[in-house]
Amino acid sequence: MTDPRLDVFFHADVLDMRVPDGLFEKPASPLLAHQMPFAEGPERIANIRAVLERAPSSRRFRWHAGRHATDAEITRFHTPAHLRALEAADATGRWFTATTCLPAGGLASVRAGAGTVLAALDAILAGQTRMAYALVRPPGHHAAPDVADGYCFLNGVAMAAERARDAGCARVAVVDWDVHHGNGTQAGFYARDDVLTVSLHMNHGAWSPESHPQTGEVDETGTGAGAGYNLNLPLPFGSGDAAMVALVRQVVLPALRRFAPDLIIVSNGQDASQFDPNGRQLLSMAGFHAMAALLAEAADEAPRGLLIAQEGGYNPAYTGFCAYAAALGFLRAPLDLRDPLAYYPEDAAAAAQAVAALIARHPLLDADGAWRPQGA
Ligand SMILES: [Zn+2]
Repeated sequence: MTDPRLDVFFHADVLDMRVPDGLFEKPASPLLAHQMPFAEGPERIANIRAVLERAPSSRRFRWHAGRHATDAEITRFHTPAHLRALEAADATGRWFTATTCLPAGGLASVRAGAGTVLAALDAILAGQTRMAYALVRPPGHHAAPDVADGYCFLNGVAMAAERARDAGCARVAVVDWDVHHGNGTQAGFYARDDVLTVSLHMNHGAWSPESHPQTGEVDETGTGAGAGYNLNLPLPFGSGDAAMVALVRQVVLPALRRFAPDLIIVSNGQDASQFDPNGRQLLSMAGFHAMAALLAEAADEAPRGLLIAQEGGYNPAYTGFCAYAAALGFLRAPLDLRDPLAYYPEDAAAAAQAVAALIARHPLLDADGAWRPQGA
């Protein structure tokens, strides 16, 4: 028997977009002697690709070409006005929020990012694979149907969820472990019970009344038909591998089993890592490996399998190693590369306490962490 392979989808156009140097994620500051590269740059994805190609298990990855998203695919989730705003911004460049810049000419990369998520989905829907990974940028999960936010312009995961529904998947589950709340995906499916949205994130709260009013708190549970179908799982800063893995095992997996999705989509960010400039969750390669192995287990029960889409991860070097660890986890292959950076000791007691405290205050979870969409 040959080892299982992961089908990886990539389009070189995603590397073209570059926001000018400045104050990390903001425009240039006259107070600095040296401006810094923008947080969301092509190096992070180029390095993930390099590690996948050069690490010991490179033979396990089968590379495929991505593509651009069409207008019709974009407006299946986003509003036509949003697409028009992106096209206008593409001509001149525009800061949509204090940290979200589409540079002139950047829309081609954005279309390639979202379209490559759809290319990976199409391989799954055609029965060519049960597990496909779209290695893309910019990320998408902060983009709501009509809002750009948090470096995100098109929500490839949400567009894929809609496309999967159109293709006959009755239920789709999105599991988002990017360190930030998947507010754009939440916003798009908030009133629906056919797409379960689960977000594990650090407790950062709302960050802009216009572009990011969602808090990511446990009381954002969905509305109307979608009441109970938005499961926010915020953890305190510094929760680490142990808490995140426990949360996936104790809450996410049983919830997926109960929802019984045809397809699971993972918003796969690595900005929960120990060395991320945008995250405070202190995960190591081991944590990403373990979480991904659990998701692969859950996907065994999903008839169409697992779609994985790259989201954040802003340490341009360590992100590559953590993404590789996640990829091996999805394959349920042993971690065959030593973590080059991790050294913080885990506080197991604090991790257990953080998970217990979250379950205790969550309106959708039983005392044992079981998801109950109808509430108590
Ligand atoms: Zn993020």
